[in-house]
Amino acid sequence: MPYVKADLHIHTAYSDGVSSPLEVVHAAIDKGLNVIAVTDHDTFMGAVKARDYVKRSRLELLVLLGNEVRTELGDVLLYCLEEVSTSKNLLNLIEISRDNGCLIVPAHPFDILKLGLGNAIFEYRGWSAIEVWNASANKRANRMAIKASKELNLPGIASSDAHIVEYIGIAHSFIELSELSEEEVVESIRKGRVKPYFGYPSFNLTLKRFVKSVKHRAWRALST
Ligand SMILES: [Zn+2]
Repeated sequence: MPYVKADLHIHTAYSDGVSSPLEVVHAAIDKGLNVIAVTDHDTFMGAVKARDYVKRSRLELLVLLGNEVRTELGDVLLYCLEEVSTSKNLLNLIEISRDNGCLIVPAHPFDILKLGLGNAIFEYRGWSAIEVWNASANKRANRMAIKASKELNLPGIASSDAHIVEYIGIAHSFIELSELSEEEVVESIRKGRVKPYFGYPSFNLTLKRFVKSVKHRAWRALST
């Protein structure tokens, strides 16, 4: 089967994203994506809402449940078939991932401003893949992540880390699947049948995200 197009790192308003899960789903379909993972901070809620909406509306998009867990050492992406309870302790989280058949992937590992794990990725075992390209991270950090994935012999994933819908799909991964199912997405990534596509936002889009996030934060501050 050919490769499908996937963006596996997207935020919604269930964490610090601007858009609803429904808006994310429609933006992903408009951009020609076949698979997405919604990965809100420390919650599967955005992903569950997106997946339920897609199933209810019979839309042609596969939604993998995701969660960007803020561990004591930095951000880690967890992709699971069903919700699991997470842990801030990295060792525990790796164990939870293994016990539940999830994928565990260091997010933007060398972007310190974005709370990447840094060299800790070399000290822990059990990674399923590495996010080698994050469209919202700096280029130097991405280059270091590509190098690390080669050293550790782990598959590389490229994602947008979108917080506004315009970012969705800017960077993405091609995953080879024998059938379109969440189980097969997990299996294919685990086996390294994934190719990252390195993309970056334009200057105008970077500016737009900045303005939107400032407005969003101001609105949140006023409404809480
Ligand atoms: Zn993120």
